[in-house]
Amino acid sequence: MNIENINLETPYLSLDSEFYDLSDPIPLDEPYLVSFSKEAAKLIDLDTKSVDDPLLVSLLNGSFTPKGAKPFAMCYSGHQFGHYNPWLGDGRASNLGRTNGWNLQLKGSGETMYSRMADGRTALRSSIREYLMSEAMHHLGIPTTRALGIIGSKTKIIRNQMEKAAMVMRMSKSWVRFGTFEYFFYRKEHDKLKALCEHVIEESYPHLKNDEDRFYKMFCEVVESTASLIAKWQAIGFCHGVVNTDNMSIAGLTIDYGPFAMMDDFKYGYICNHTDKIGRYSYAEQPNISYWNLTKLSETLVPLISKERMQKKLDEFGSSLYPNAYIESMREKLGLELKLDNDLELIEDLLVALQDGYVDYTLFFRTLSHYDGDRSALYDIAMNPVAIDNWLKMYDKRLEQEVVSESERKKAMLKSNPKYVLKNYMLQEAITHAELGDFSMAQTLLHIAEHPYDELPEYEHFAQETPEEHKNIGLSCSS
Ligand code: AMP
Ligand code: MG
Ligand code: MG
Repeated sequence: MNIENINLETPYLSLDSEFYDLSDPIPLDEPYLVSFSKEAAKLIDLDTKSVDDPLLVSLLNGSFTPKGAKPFAMCYSGHQFGHYNPWLGDGRASNLGRTNGWNLQLKGSGETMYSRMADGRTALRSSIREYLMSEAMHHLGIPTTRALGIIGSKTKIIRNQMEKAAMVMRMSKSWVRFGTFEYFFYRKEHDKLKALCEHVIEESYPHLKNDEDRFYKMFCEVVESTASLIAKWQAIGFCHGVVNTDNMSIAGLTIDYGPFAMMDDFKYGYICNHTDKIGRYSYAEQPNISYWNLTKLSETLVPLISKERMQKKLDEFGSSLYPNAYIESMREKLGLELKLDNDLELIEDLLVALQDGYVDYTLFFRTLSHYDGDRSALYDIAMNPVAIDNWLKMYDKRLEQEVVSESERKKAMLKSNPKYVLKNYMLQEAITHAELGDFSMAQTLLHIAEHPYDELPEYEHFAQETPEEHKNIGLSCSS
């Protein structure tokens, strides 16, 4: 299919008009293509040759409206850093409609009814970050929104300094947030809350459609998919940075990429968002805060679902769903097939050892995937090898209890421990080039993002430890 033939449906618009505001994207000046994801294009059956179609820039700039599209911004509210904000919504995004189960959305498309005092725009810098990282997360096996492409422009916007405005076309199976539920609950509009549940079931949990107990079961699935998502974040070393309820997906996806970071040297309390002074959204807190966000979601569902039943499900988050998912992911990373009682201790001791050893999280697991009893490669990557040495003694003992052969273990570990992740310093370098009109590094990073587990000899330098001056820096929310 080519761009001209894209045909969208807009089921969200069947909801009450309070759910959205119809607003057309406002194109940027002198747009140009920065990057196009052929992998994302395939999801909507879009011809990968569309990269050469002059309509592509118009599509990504919001000046070409596909058939069936009826651009709208969605309303929502949310708890931001613990405080309820009743009035959020898509302040800088325009939803075009859905095709093949993917909802297309332009981010940075100009002011909407929900823009408050802001400009409705997004900077080239943050568009590149979101575009590349969402593709990277997908290829790492983590549920996420996707992105089709980015355009840059001559339009300037004011952030900490003047920046170039851009637009990124995001794609998601659902754009509904916990905050969408909060909006209708706090306004006491219970009919609309119910209609929202039905919509979410239709879109994200269709197997529940005819179930009498579907609202409760939907809630259970949200708790489960959130537990599984956060376990994957922790295992891969991903910090989101702004885990507000409006950035929590009802479909269990990673959404709204802002000041995120992949862990450099492992630091349990790492805070990637430097406006987060107390570390509410630190790496260590992500599971707790997700639980808290789920309790906020459950409060909105009290008019529809028994509180006690929901509380029971919430209890499972901490007692089994999250810890089991996390331990399972970590067992995979460690090449362990058997489930033994002491595994959690082994994992916790490893985290202490990694922190004491000042070791790059990603590089450690990739190096461990080649471990054959010779510890020198692991010593080489630690500033304090003693910490690692002590842990390896436990690991050796644990491996003795395993049934899989060493070669099988290594093979499996190389598929669970990426060689390449997108560190912030790499993204920043691609952004610096892109701001000067050179998009080749963004293209390189897209390629790396699509092959995280492969050996790519020409990009070996991107698999090394983060340069000292760039380790575990914080980014700001402003974008
Ligand atoms: P975020 O931090 O990107 O998740 O955004 C939080 C809220 O602020 C959302 O309602 C956004 O739509 C809104 N927002 C953020 N930046 C802008 C902007 N430049 N213009 C309008 N709304 C914005
Ligand atoms: Mg409306
Ligand atoms: Mg957001």
